Amino acid sequence: MNSIAHQFGTRPYETNDNSRNSLFLAVIMLGEGFHNNHHRFPNSARFALQRKQLDLGYGILVVLEKLGLIRDMKIAGPERGLNNLMKRALVRVPVAAPQR
Ligand SMILES: [Zn+2]
Repeated sequence: MNSIAHQFGTRPYETNDNSRNSLFLAVIMLGEGFHNNHHRFPNSARFALQRKQLDLGYGILVVLEKLGLIRDMKIAGPERGLNNLMKRALVRVPVAAPQR
């Protein structure tokens, strides 16, 4: 899967690799298909960073956090298009803008 995520898709961020974002891979890999986002912000628990990106893996992490099973998730990315829960999570770490 990792090698596919370096061959097909979009590159919203400049990275030193050939990582790419693929909605198809993101759906079947619970968000990890936003691989370019992941390489740009490797410490972020959330891979979805742009509007209309669905990150089911992060959704599971939010539920685990609500249950008190995990805490102190690191979240990176622009706040545009995020729901209130994600906006609240963003205040914990600095917001990074896409590189142009
Ligand atoms: Zn990779």
